[in-house]
Amino acid sequence: MKNVVIMTFFTLFISLNLIAQEANPKQKDKKVVEKETKLEDPVCHMKVKKGGKITTKHKEVEYSFCSEPCKESFTKNPDKYIKK
Ligand SMILES: [Zn+2]
Repeated sequence: MKNVVIMTFFTLFISLNLIAQEANPKQKDKKVVEKETKLEDPVCHMKVKKGGKITTKHKEVEYSFCSEPCKESFTKNPDKYIKK
């Protein structure tokens, strides 16, 4: 009889583990989505939505900006704002 109790606990433990593992990837996906939809303005470090109108390309990389003045500052001196 004791064995049955142990087996029940064991099965329950495994099930809970599986549920926990299933829940985790969902949290990771959320973080990935946030990274994909939000870019950082390299000039003022504000978060900018991807697909904005104020963008520029520099060395095949696209940069997004919160405003025209930020874009202008970047275009004048891109190397100053690019992380190395
Ligand atoms: Zn800005």
